[in-house]
Amino acid sequence: AIAAETRAFEADVSKLLHMMVHSVYSDRDVFLRELISNAADACEKLRYEAIADPSLLGEDPQLQITITLDKDAGTLILADNGIGMTAADMGETLGTIARSGTKAFMDRLSADKNGEGQQLIGQFGVGFYSAFMVAGKVDVISRRAGESGAASWSSDGLGTYTLAPVDPAQAPARGTKVILHLLDDAKSYAERYNVERIVKAQSGHVPVPIFIEEAGSDEEARQLADGAALWTKPKSDISKEDYTDFYRSVAGQFDKPALTLHYRAEGRHEYSVLTFIPESKPFDLFDPDRSGRIKLYVRRVFITDEAEILPRYLRFVRGLVDSADLPLNMSREMIQDSPVLSAIQKGVSNRVLSELEKLADAEPERYAAIWENFGAVLKEGLYEDYARRETLLGLARFKTTTSNGEWRSLKDYVFALKENQTAIYYATGTDLERIADSPQLEGFKARGIEVLLLPDQIDNFWTSMGADYEGKPFKSVTQGAADLSLIPLAEGREPTNAAAEDVTGFIDFAKEALADYVSDVRISDRLTTSAVCLVAPDNAMDLQLEKMLASAGR
Ligand code: ADP
Ligand code: MG
Repeated sequence: AIAAETRAFEADVSKLLHMMVHSVYSDRDVFLRELISNAADACEKLRYEAIADPSLLGEDPQLQITITLDKDAGTLILADNGIGMTAADMGETLGTIARSGTKAFMDRLSADKNGEGQQLIGQFGVGFYSAFMVAGKVDVISRRAGESGAASWSSDGLGTYTLAPVDPAQAPARGTKVILHLLDDAKSYAERYNVERIVKAQSGHVPVPIFIEEAGSDEEARQLADGAALWTKPKSDISKEDYTDFYRSVAGQFDKPALTLHYRAEGRHEYSVLTFIPESKPFDLFDPDRSGRIKLYVRRVFITDEAEILPRYLRFVRGLVDSADLPLNMSREMIQDSPVLSAIQKGVSNRVLSELEKLADAEPERYAAIWENFGAVLKEGLYEDYARRETLLGLARFKTTTSNGEWRSLKDYVFALKENQTAIYYATGTDLERIADSPQLEGFKARGIEVLLLPDQIDNFWTSMGADYEGKPFKSVTQGAADLSLIPLAEGREPTNAAAEDVTGFIDFAKEALADYVSDVRISDRLTTSAVCLVAPDNAMDLQLEKMLASAGR
């Protein structure tokens, strides 16, 4: 047999644990929902694996989570009869940080000087390690489904953990037991009424039933959550709180949904959809590894969260799709290629966008709040999803030179076009204020022409693709002599080219002096107070894009 082995945590885990242990975060209840969500995930994984190998369920087909409290011992034990872990699994998953959001979260937290970041622990959840907010020692005993051996993981959260084989007689027949040795100031987590209250409030809708019992008590275990699939219930039976609670358990994010979409598709393909747009922005929204996290179920069995049901630019949408007609015994790989899945992908993507359109019409302020958080991601679709570009342009909102910080739609923009104006003008850059102050905008301001201010990286890309809106091309203010002379000056403005004659000598001089650097020097309508500005030739790359590519070494 293998002997016990003590290992050091990965540096990032140590850092995270230090934050947990020294956390002054007041709402420590969140550790319970993290452990329950892991237990529920483990049950769902087993439910899936048992489709191919029913023997994994053995004599114990009823998946469940059990919380056992022991006031005298000062422990809370959370047990599940899910997939379980081998010693190697535990070394891998309980010694490292896998989730992509956690690192970004930690950076935020450690950069945070005045402690406000503490609140973020509650909002985003940090997984298993949150157990150390309430426990001075954590033991995990586990047996992987179908294995005879069992193992334990144990740590005081101070830098090392110990892995050891366990006498199978002392281990659960299948699944995982997490034993929390509660800190002195956390003993209330061994009180039944307290734990019941927390579980109902936080985890009432996990898809696995939850029971609670007290050690040494004759009272029977009580069921706290029924494990029923919320999405299969009729909408009229579901309260707003139910949805919020469910959103939190499915998204692992602990704000509220800004938009909830729950419907059943019928016809050629039958499936239920329950998705949410979060109220706040996750930390890893721009992490290249971040993928969409819409879960795919088949007749209530969780299959995968990697089916990429929504396109990348909708990766902030959380929730699930439950298909009635995909075969259960199909491998995940085959599901990815199935025409049923393509139909679902198309249907759900279109529906999410049409729901956003509806919201934008009916409740522009609520929509603007969503755009504020996720607009920069949605704009990726302008570049990536040609087929839906028109829809996305309709959804896009912009701050402009005349919008006073408000969001404007392109419809608004086109409605306010100036006499003879045939293009939609935009200026790109890295921050709104600097773009708004750019000398490139002077000629536009003098004519009262609205210019879109585009501060996001992605703006450099989609604008370079020759898109148009209602037949009006997008045109950068840095590109060539945007034909401003045809557009009348705003009232009270004097034309500047009266002085043209006087500067031809200077222009010739400048052309010669700068011959190696610029292709042309000319008098321009675009400036009113600044003396000069740089522009790109008409058919060349936008200046901002050129800068960006140059800095990327291309
Ligand atoms: P996440 O749940 O986001 O992956 P956690 O920190 O909560 O992150 O958990 C880390 C990993 O530990 C899980 O992904 C899983 O592999 C493993 N794990 C934790 N709890 C259990 C459990 N009860 N049963 C099986 N595996 C578990
Ligand atoms: Mg987890």
